Amino acid sequence: MQITRLEIVPSYNNGFTFSWVVSGISGQSALMFVVQESAIGVASDATAWRDISPALPNAFAWTEERRKKFDTNPLFFRVRGVVDNVASYSPVIDAFGELNHKDYMLAAEIMRRKQCQSEGVSVRIFRKMDKGERCPRCVNKITGAVHDRQCPVCHGRGIVVGYLGPYGGCVKFSGTQQHIQYSGEAAGMDDVKNFSIEALGFPRLVYTDIVAECKSDRRYSVVSTVYPVEIRRIPIVQEVNVVELPTDFVIYSLGAPV
Ligand SMILES: [Zn+2]
Repeated sequence: MQITRLEIVPSYNNGFTFSWVVSGISGQSALMFVVQESAIGVASDATAWRDISPALPNAFAWTEERRKKFDTNPLFFRVRGVVDNVASYSPVIDAFGELNHKDYMLAAEIMRRKQCQSEGVSVRIFRKMDKGERCPRCVNKITGAVHDRQCPVCHGRGIVVGYLGPYGGCVKFSGTQQHIQYSGEAAGMDDVKNFSIEALGFPRLVYTDIVAECKSDRRYSVVSTVYPVEIRRIPIVQEVNVVELPTDFVIYSLGAPV
C-alpha cells in the first residue's frame, strides 16, 4: 500500500481535518491508519513522531477535536498506514498543507465567520466506499450486479457495510424544500423532499454519500455538490443538494443513532 497524498484543512472546531488517498490495495485487506505529528517540530526525524488520532480502521479522513494554540514549533504531520502487518507512511506535510500561511488564515477566517452567521445542525456523515469486500448476500458472483438495493449487509452498495464513518459535521439547511422526481440509485421514489444544505469544506460530500441529522436521525442522500468558495482548489464551503430518504430504507440501520 502507498499513501500517495495527504491533505490538510482547518475545520470549524479549531483543529485540522486530514484526508488521504491510498493506492495498491486489494480491497480485501483490513487497513489501519493513524495520524501522527512531529514531536519536536522536525519533518524528517524518524523516531520522534507521536500519534494524535486514535487507530482509524478503513478510514480516509480524520478531524481533530480541538487544537488550542499554535505553538512556536513548526507543525508537521504524516499518516501511518498498516496493511498485512506492513507499515507505510504518507508524505510529510506542514500545518498549512497546500495553502500558504496567508491563504490558510483566510480559509480559517471564512469558516469562522460562516459558523458565526447562524446556528447549524449537527450531522453525522457516512461516505460511500468504492472498494472493499464484495457483499456475499446480494452480489451476483459472475456479473457483479447488486440484486438488493435494501440489502442489510451492504446497504445496497455491493460492498460489505458500504459506507465509511460516521464523521461528525455541522451543516445548515435552507428553509426551502420542494418535491422532485428522482431517478438513479434511488429510483422508485417519486415524491421526495429535496433540500439544499451548506456545509464547510470537510468532509467533501459526493453523490450518494449519506448525511444523518443527529437530533432527528433523518437521513439524506447527496445528489450534487458545488463549491461556491474555494481557495487554491480546496473547497472552503460546499453547497449540497440532498434528498430525504424514506424511513423504511435500510440506510437507517447504518450506524446506531446517537
Ligand atoms: Zn448486499
